[in-house]
Amino acid sequence: MAIKYIPEPFRIKMVEPIKMLTLEEREQRIKEANYNLFSLRGEDVYIDLLTDSGTNAMSDKQWAGVMIGDEAYAGGRSYFKLVEAGQEIFGYEYIQPVHQGRAAEKVLFGLLMGPGKYSISNMHFDTTRAHVEIAGARAIDCVVEEAGDPTLRTPFKGNMDVEKLERLINEYGKENVALVVMTITNNSAGGQPVSIQNMRDVSAICKKYGIKLNIDAARYAENAYFIKQREEEFKDASIKDIIKEMFSYADMFTMSAKKDTIVNMGGLFGIKNDKELFQKAKGNTISFEGFTTYGGLSGRDLEALAIGLYEGLDEDYLRYRIGQMEYLAARLDDAGIAYQSPVGGHGVFVDAKAMFPHIPYNEFPGQALAIELYKEAGIRTCDIGSYMLGNDPDTGEQLHADFEFTRLAIPRRVYTQAHIDIMADALIAIKERASEVKGYRITWEPPVLRHFQASLEPLK
Ligand SMILES: *Cc1c(COP(=O)(O)O)cnc(C)c1O
Repeated sequence: MAIKYIPEPFRIKMVEPIKMLTLEEREQRIKEANYNLFSLRGEDVYIDLLTDSGTNAMSDKQWAGVMIGDEAYAGGRSYFKLVEAGQEIFGYEYIQPVHQGRAAEKVLFGLLMGPGKYSISNMHFDTTRAHVEIAGARAIDCVVEEAGDPTLRTPFKGNMDVEKLERLINEYGKENVALVVMTITNNSAGGQPVSIQNMRDVSAICKKYGIKLNIDAARYAENAYFIKQREEEFKDASIKDIIKEMFSYADMFTMSAKKDTIVNMGGLFGIKNDKELFQKAKGNTISFEGFTTYGGLSGRDLEALAIGLYEGLDEDYLRYRIGQMEYLAARLDDAGIAYQSPVGGHGVFVDAKAMFPHIPYNEFPGQALAIELYKEAGIRTCDIGSYMLGNDPDTGEQLHADFEFTRLAIPRRVYTQAHIDIMADALIAIKERASEVKGYRITWEPPVLRHFQASLEPLK
């Protein structure tokens, strides 16, 4: 194998025991959960890769910060520390904490768009799409075509298709495009990065047509690390400088801090210099989240977040973090297991369609692989495919997703090389008996976001 595991740039000071149930117990538990991984109890899971959101391990400094968090209702010390960190890192005048990423979307999108308007993105995350739609507007995805081919190894598969963006703006009318959203990294395309050049091109188009540009910034630090690795112009730049440059092209950002800022709860939004918009956003923050100087968080959360903003930029940490993905991906390469490649920032998106060519989309290969991973090694993952996509709201027909992925999302600073090897070994074992694995049928589903709650049964 060509890739070596990058050693953890930390040592372990606190532990949380985990336990693998027996095969019989795992088979029993997943059956009792109606073959829905969201219905499992956390304690029945050995390695939990359901999401990298809010599942991070905080550092000793962050835990120390928890103890000195200022719980004042208004004007707390921790709030000012967070705002100053945000201003320094992103270069924006206005920084506002909220309780998580979707809260930032809820506060801002209603101020920017309404019926008849459009939001165009390299890909809307599901809550981002939901808040565009709640505001009455429509969400249009415009990612580069190469994102659709999991085997094609190009450096920036998260990019916006710039030509298509301009075509769409002209088609809808520039006055109807309320917002352009750059999701960095592009979560739904497999944690794929966006280049600075693409950001520049998108920014130029937004300026030309007078449209606001928002960054959906959940994984801004992982994106900056990829830029340093893959974009020639930035090979000697610091992560901090790359982030400053990236954000300089946008007007605002919304951020889930549960990802790259390495906390368990929190969010932010930033506005570069539009004072009027910030005034209105403060009003919504007070209505939806709480007073502006705590934004739905405890003072201790604000303190941990202010510290995490800096820890997330550390290059030794990012090298190790992305190194974990690259190590797992290299083991899959050796075994001939396909995934969205090159591997992205926060997880490995295994191509379940390639693993189970005999299971059609409407028997949910991504979900079948997620269930097999639990049975094989107590690993919890999720389907990113037709099972998650659901039915056409007009016809009730099962939609056919472009991909059938099973996502192994890796929590930050949580698992070791031995755990990563268990993930690879489990996938290899499943591949060896892939032809015996059956598809699934839904026996009950709610009308929206069904994958969280649906019941399934294996097909004979
Ligand atoms: C997680 C996420 C969100 C939503 O944030 P929450 O903190 O889960 O509310 C929005 N956009 C992207 C790209 C995300 O990954």
